[in-house]
Amino acid sequence: MGTKINVRNPRTGKIDDSITPPTLEQLTEECNRLREAQIDWQQIGLEKRIEAMQAWKQALLSQQDQLIKAIVTDTGRLSESLTEFNSVISSIDRWCQLAPELLSELEAKSTAIPFIELQQESIPYQLVGVISPWNFPLLLSLIDTIPALLAGCSVIVKPSEITPRFIKPLRATIASVPKLCDVLAYIEGAGNTGAALIESVDLVCFTGSVATGRKVAEAAAKCFIPAFLELGGKDPAIVLSSTDLELATSAILWGSVVNAGQSCLSIERIYVAESIFEDFIEKLVAKAKCLDLAYPSLEEGQIGPIIAQRQAEIIAAHLKEAVEKGAIIHCGGKVEQLDGGWWCRPTVLTQVNHAMQVMRAETFGPIMPVMSFATIKEAIKLANDTIYGLSAAVFAGSEAEAIAVATNIDAGAISINDAGLTAMIHEAEKSSFKFSGMGGSRMGAAALKRFMRKKAFLIKQESIPDPWWFKS
Ligand code: NAD
Repeated sequence: MGTKINVRNPRTGKIDDSITPPTLEQLTEECNRLREAQIDWQQIGLEKRIEAMQAWKQALLSQQDQLIKAIVTDTGRLSESLTEFNSVISSIDRWCQLAPELLSELEAKSTAIPFIELQQESIPYQLVGVISPWNFPLLLSLIDTIPALLAGCSVIVKPSEITPRFIKPLRATIASVPKLCDVLAYIEGAGNTGAALIESVDLVCFTGSVATGRKVAEAAAKCFIPAFLELGGKDPAIVLSSTDLELATSAILWGSVVNAGQSCLSIERIYVAESIFEDFIEKLVAKAKCLDLAYPSLEEGQIGPIIAQRQAEIIAAHLKEAVEKGAIIHCGGKVEQLDGGWWCRPTVLTQVNHAMQVMRAETFGPIMPVMSFATIKEAIKLANDTIYGLSAAVFAGSEAEAIAVATNIDAGAISINDAGLTAMIHEAEKSSFKFSGMGGSRMGAAALKRFMRKKAFLIKQESIPDPWWFKS
């Protein structure tokens, strides 16, 4: 910690920035400051917290050009950066609207014992730690932060060291809101700073890979604090013979290659009924070929660069192994370097199987490996043959037919006749299955309650001996 870290530009490949993480003493001091301020933040009540969040929204809107510019430099892509910013703004409004009902005081209740009354109180965790990845740097650093702040917690956020440029303009917006800057802090740093942060907080929200998630879970267990983990995926799409192929190919293409496939909920495996396989491939390939790289200009095309150098290496390795084992490339197919950045065109592969990494491990690139299936039972077996269980998609001629298949898929959210809907629909509560995560749903209104502890007051109403006491 405390040592300078270089930052690479995803479009040029050049090291053109750096961050300096806090020392352990600085981190401890920051956490002490946030803890102290949390007491007042909790006591001022929800109405004042909503006021502060709304003031912050205005500050974000007034600084939106600087913020978006920084996210664009961090990620090398434009339209997804605008989407990130807009999502954060609507998320502040959504949580401000939902919070009053979610945090309303519960009424006193009678219990099964007539002379004992129950009153309940919800108490926010004092300091929440958020550790976030590089694929949607702004959005994923705030997705848990906003509800935690409204719940009355202080929050300390450590975004990815790969995309840290947005932190500076974001800090300026936080600094402009007096109450908020007391209870919200962003720190720069890599894995060791994240590890130190876990030891300083009362609850940790982590978004990232399964490998790091495991370390975070172990560290949180040692500290005896709750850990909410949102990890990787290898989402399958199943396409039944009754499907509208025009719709399915457009949805799957978007679900696989938006953000150049660098989304946890990207469609990474496609299983298509034998009878429609050829037609499906023909349509998918034709549509994939219509998409262009956002190169040389940011405003062109739809496919941005591969943001992290190490991800470009993983995508290239998965493609190489698949081809060596017999896969056929129909379009795209290589990770190329243009002006120092790494790029990959939408790639459709057939003749793939589950012995290949491209069907088993998270590729996190615009790669669409497609297999055919003979029976629905076989499709479900293939979809579930994975360590992941984040989300999935099922396409069929009727909702009932699709849901009959979706019921059997081990994943927390299934889009029916569409793809990637969990990114768009905030009302749906979902659990991560298998290694894709741990802890209560981040989506849905109940997500805010993850930041509260419950306290029960059990109140005796009458001056009588309890029947279970020792008889005198
Ligand atoms: P990563 O696991 O490498 O890093 C994530 C964060 O953890 C970074 O901030 C990193 O500095 C920090 N970190 C690293 N080691 C740590 C440690 N020992 N203790 C604490 N923190 C540590 O992930 P990444 O490569 O940045 O992101 C891509 C991954 O994130 C993919 O697997 C993707 O599927 C996943 N992801 C999941 C979701 C979801 O909601 N399920 C959303 C987006 C991304």
